[in-house]
Amino acid sequence: MIYAVFQSCNARCGWLLIALAIGSIASPGQAETGSPPLVLISIDGFRHDYFEAAETPALDRLIDGGLKAESLYHVFPTKTFPTHYSAVTGRYPGSHGVVANSMWDPRDHRRFSLRDRDAVGDGYWYRDGEPIWVTAERQGVPAATYFWPGSEARIHGIRPSEWKLYSGAVPHAERIEQILAWMDIEGDERPGLYTLYFSRVDSLGHRYGPLADEVIEAIEDVDHHIGVLLDGIEARDGLDQVHIIVISDHGMSRIDAERYIMLDDYLDLARVRVSDWGPAAQIWATDMSVDEIMAELEHAHEHMRVWRRDDIPVRYRFGDHRRVPDVLAEADLGWMINNRPFMAARDRFPLRGMHGWDPAWLEMHGILLAHGPAFNAGSRSPSMRSIDLYELMARLLELVPADNEGLIHPFLPFLDANQARGFERQWFECNQPDSEVVVDIAPNHLGLHIDEMGLVLDRLAVPGLQFFIDAENFALFEDDRMVLRAEGRQWTDCKRTAHETIAPGY
Ligand SMILES: [Zn+2]
Repeated sequence: MIYAVFQSCNARCGWLLIALAIGSIASPGQAETGSPPLVLISIDGFRHDYFEAAETPALDRLIDGGLKAESLYHVFPTKTFPTHYSAVTGRYPGSHGVVANSMWDPRDHRRFSLRDRDAVGDGYWYRDGEPIWVTAERQGVPAATYFWPGSEARIHGIRPSEWKLYSGAVPHAERIEQILAWMDIEGDERPGLYTLYFSRVDSLGHRYGPLADEVIEAIEDVDHHIGVLLDGIEARDGLDQVHIIVISDHGMSRIDAERYIMLDDYLDLARVRVSDWGPAAQIWATDMSVDEIMAELEHAHEHMRVWRRDDIPVRYRFGDHRRVPDVLAEADLGWMINNRPFMAARDRFPLRGMHGWDPAWLEMHGILLAHGPAFNAGSRSPSMRSIDLYELMARLLELVPADNEGLIHPFLPFLDANQARGFERQWFECNQPDSEVVVDIAPNHLGLHIDEMGLVLDRLAVPGLQFFIDAENFALFEDDRMVLRAEGRQWTDCKRTAHETIAPGY
């Protein structure tokens, strides 16, 4: 009976149910001074499974002493600026307005590109979200940023107390020294929030492909420098007295020259505007109508899907910001969308790795480690969502969060708990034999793996039922059976074939 209700439930009804079931989440009271400092570190392009290939003694210290999630589920598009800005604002790209690394603003006729220093440092592009450093500064907690997308800009009139103009050439050792020097500031001016960013794992992943030797060497180099930072923190506050969160902003997938879709084979590019290229193309109707663009592209290539802005899949939560394009084209994982003049002019090394596709692809998942007084040593959780990190950081810093679209809910069982937590992993055989379904069950959320895709669902507090849901997907458990709807497909009568407890410290 309950299945029928949810089969008729449309996408929006899912979010309503989540809101009803989760109900009021206790929000922190007034900001207080004295919360432990928080260091937020991003290792750009660190795919969730890189740990298996690299020696990472420093990150292992954090894993042994804190919480490790199976992976970090990001937002669409899985590109550096949108994902980093979602992690620090708790808003989806189509809500905070940083919808790509290259953007077009149709209202003000302005362009944004990563190479445009003026645009990167202009708060205009970021003001529809409030990053955690602005929240901190507003509530009397100084912030110090050694790089983060948006951190060079004055947002809502506020910059971090300490910040740096981005330069990828700054040696890693220098970044660490500066963070430690900031930690040596005494009194009220001592920062309570720090950010630190490393780009090299990403850039070598693009150049040589995921898991290439060069990528592994870059991981081990970054790990070495994080080790220096951890030693410095240990010598100051003590590692157990500081919150450290390590994330990456997306994963990496292999691409090759044979898998390019040339948009100009199907569209006269002089009659449209394309503001972003790659795994997804953001297309604007200029001399062609949306209908005309759709007619040309809809069945153009078997490895490309195309949507009008109102038809973009609900799970993408891309949002309704004016910078979301009229037409979105997305290639299959491993495929790219570009144009012939660009490809002909390209004389650099061939790219072997890319990111930017649907965040559900496991290859797009990043990492999440969290260490410090709120976390128990050895805790292990299913995949978490990056959109929820803003709420987590506000909680750790005892700040009142700004309006956002994240939930603290999945993190609560892992925060200030009496003991380390693990989770339950279960394998299911369903009526579609070509899919392997694995679920990771935590008290408040579920990591759902179907073949090469991974989603995060929230537990609904329905008495007597094990029920997990997101915008358009659900999983309902009864004894050793499961009913599952995901990505427009429905699996009825899945039978559990195995289960395993992922114990703390695993
Ligand atoms: Zn990135």
